[in-house]
Parts: sequence; C-alpha cells; structure tokens
Amino acid sequence: MPRFFVDLPLAAAAEIALPPGAARHVQVLRLQPGDALTLFDGSGPEWRAEVTAMGRSEVRVRLLQADRPQRELARAVTLAVAMPANDRMDFLVEKATELGAAALQPLVAERSVLRLAGERADKKRAHWQGVAVAAAEQSGRTVPLRVEPVRPLAAWLAALPVPAGDEWRGLLSPRAAAPLASVAALAPAAAASALFLSGPEGGLSDAEEDAARAHGFAAVSLGPRILRADTAPLAVLSWLALGP
Ligand code: SAH
Repeated sequence: MPRFFVDLPLAAAAEIALPPGAARHVQVLRLQPGDALTLFDGSGPEWRAEVTAMGRSEVRVRLLQADRPQRELARAVTLAVAMPANDRMDFLVEKATELGAAALQPLVAERSVLRLAGERADKKRAHWQGVAVAAAEQSGRTVPLRVEPVRPLAAWLAALPVPAGDEWRGLLSPRAAAPLASVAALAPAAAASALFLSGPEGGLSDAEEDAARAHGFAAVSLGPRILRADTAPLAVLSWLALGP
C-alpha cells in the first residue's frame, strides 16, 4: 500500500488536503477516490487513510484509523559522523534510516574532504532530511531519522552536555583495544541511548580523539580491517539493530 510522510499534524476523522509533496506522489501513482493509503506525520502513529477527491492540484484524503506499530530500536542511537564526500552521505543517511538510527549529526573534522558551512550546509541538510523521509516511507518507520545541522567537530564537542546517566558515548577508532561487542553498556536493556563518533576518510586526528575522550567517549574497535567513513557507522548500527 502507498505510504507517505505528511508534514502536518494528523488527527482522527479529519478530511484533509495533502500538502504538495505527498499530493504529487499520489497523483503520480494515479490513485482514485476510494483507494487506500498509509500516512504518518513523524509523531509516532501511522494512519490508514482513503482518497476522497483527486483534483488537478488538490488531493483530499480521509483519515480512518491510527495504528501504533513498533518499528523503532529499543535504544535511541545517534551517529555523529565526519561527513564522507560525494554521494556517500546520501547512502549513509538512507541506510542509517533503514537500520533505525534516531539521529545523524554531520560534522566537519580536521581531515574532512567535504567542508560544508553556511547556506551550502543548510541546503545539504535539507536534502539529507528528504533522503531520510523517503527511506522512512519505504522502510515502514513512523519516525524519520533526524538530520542535525552541520557543525565543526571541535565546536560540537565543546558544546556537548555532560552525558546523562543512561547515555553511552563511543569513539570509533581503528587503534582502540576494546571491541564493540565487549561494551557492557550496549547489552540489551542497558544504556537507553548511545552516541557514536566516527571519522572522515583520513581518520580523526590524535587531538580530536583526545578531545572526544575528554567529553566522555570511550574508544572502541570494529576489528582489524579499516572500514570506510560510511561503512563504520553502519556496521555499528547493524550490530545494534540485529545483534545483542
Ligand atoms: N585512514 C584512517 C581510517 C579512516 S576510516 C585511519 O587509519 O585512521 C574512517 C573512520 O571509520 C575512522 O576515523 C573510524 O572512526 C572508523 N573506523 C574505520 N575502521 C574502523 C575500525 N576497524 N574500528 C573502529 N573504527 C573504525
């Protein structure tokens, strides 16, 4: 069944005009009055709905019933990632959404190839949020991954609050001794949220790793092979989503 995100609070028994994005999707699919679709607004529930009118530009739907499927990870996982260049970031956002990450924090590190700031960074962030919404529609998530504003790594670290008691912070470092699987805080039913920091193509500098440790990050290894900047955070997420 067609499934769309709607950037509008949805409520029972309402008949609404779909916002332009969702309306265009419905027109492309040539749905007809009476056809069923599923809508979600990112607040948790998803709605069974039916098309009531197809106009030239306006598509109207009636919301029939809210369901509350549980498709989120038990633990809120945030990936703080020194952005890989090219279209690897699109890939990362899509896969991180499918695998259940709650948020993605794009960072510019000392050795980053992709150095975004200002308006270009804002435009990219909006684009990535769109990628996350499309991946949520496709994968059945009712809450799309949240893409945070692009930040320089040092400034982001400096502004991080002291970790809350139920939060675990990990620094992905090929030089770390402790394997990810040895972290007790990541056992099922342990820490309620986890934040992972990973580096760019050229890796994090020693100074950046030291700064992360000073902000409560514990260094962990993903094994003896070097994973690319887009692979490392996805490996962590796959392990958390499917493993322990
Ligand atoms: N040339 C860099 C590797 C960068 S890989 C170096 O030697 O440090 C990009 C990022 O992925 C790294 O900064 C790290 O955060 C993560 N990563 C890659 N392989 C890893 C591994 N085996 N264990 C832990 N983190 C890894």
